[in-house]
Amino acid sequence: MKVVVLVGGVGGARFLLGVKAALGLPAIGEAESEHEVTAVVNVGDDVWMHGLRVCPDLDTCMYTLADAIDAQKGWGRVAETWSVKEELAAYGAEPSWFGLGDRDIATHLVRSRMLRAGYSLTAVTEALCDRWRPGVRLLPVTDDRVETHVAIDDPDSGEGRAVHFQEWWVRHRAEPKAHAIVPVGADDAKPSQDALDAIEHADVVLLAPSNPVVSIGTLLAVPGFRDALRKTSAPVVGLSPIVGGKPLRGMADACLTAIGEDSTAEAVGRHYGARGSEGVLDGWLVHTGDEAEVPGVETRAVPLLMSDVDATATMALEAFDLASAVKQR
Ligand code: GDP
Ligand code: CA
Repeated sequence: MKVVVLVGGVGGARFLLGVKAALGLPAIGEAESEHEVTAVVNVGDDVWMHGLRVCPDLDTCMYTLADAIDAQKGWGRVAETWSVKEELAAYGAEPSWFGLGDRDIATHLVRSRMLRAGYSLTAVTEALCDRWRPGVRLLPVTDDRVETHVAIDDPDSGEGRAVHFQEWWVRHRAEPKAHAIVPVGADDAKPSQDALDAIEHADVVLLAPSNPVVSIGTLLAVPGFRDALRKTSAPVVGLSPIVGGKPLRGMADACLTAIGEDSTAEAVGRHYGARGSEGVLDGWLVHTGDEAEVPGVETRAVPLLMSDVDATATMALEAFDLASAVKQR
């Protein structure tokens, strides 16, 4: 089976562990298999920091699937040290609010050097994965620069300004109200041809329970990407990141509020919409006890808590099951 999964960072990476397990693959690492998992990964969080290109969602997926992630924090390397961060602070080098660990910095050094030498982000990611062997093909949604910016009132001056998503999310903990969230550069970006091909030839396409605005939303903002989802003969099934009216482990509700959507599984399902009308979904999984009516989309309620790999694999199997049910229609 060829499975394509649209993902962001932490939620997406955890879901990929379950997708692999559901296919009989090892959750961590790679193995020979007839099955193929391709993850199309958000790049909207990517940022230049201290001259280094940092790709938080790609790295979270890569480290998680290689068992190299700091599982406590959900990002960065396990057994990390922070000498460089301390040295930068001693110089007063800003930004000081973004954590770059020593081990992690090696990844960003390799990436930045390759990008400066002219390699595409797709090629760089493949080269990094050569070391980590995540067992999933990780594809940035585009090789072009697309960065999510957020319009806020500056907490100090009160003046309106646009900041990089990381500054809003990490520095300000998404506390200042977001007036708008914009994937800057998306309009001029070209989608990854590898990602388009994977979607066209997929047996099933899944939307991970990732942030619907700044993870999945950014993917869908790249021109041509949404069309690829709408055109594929594969069924497209999404899983809700909102459980019981709240995002799990995160502040995704602040993003939904910014785009004028409620934090409910139904609102997110309707926001994605049915392929039969203008949207991208054939099926929508919500958490047991949540209700969602999404016109034109077959909805089922199943447990959606990624508490461990087994529970997450069961979610993936439910998604495959719903995919074959909608395919038969
Ligand atoms: P990020 O880029 O690190 O923010 O990660 P993602 O965008 O991939 O995923 C973040 C989303 O994952 C959040 O909106 C959470 O609601 C969702 N999430 C985290 N854990 C779970 C879980 O156990 N179940 C479900 N359904 N969603 C989850
Ligand atoms: Ca992210």
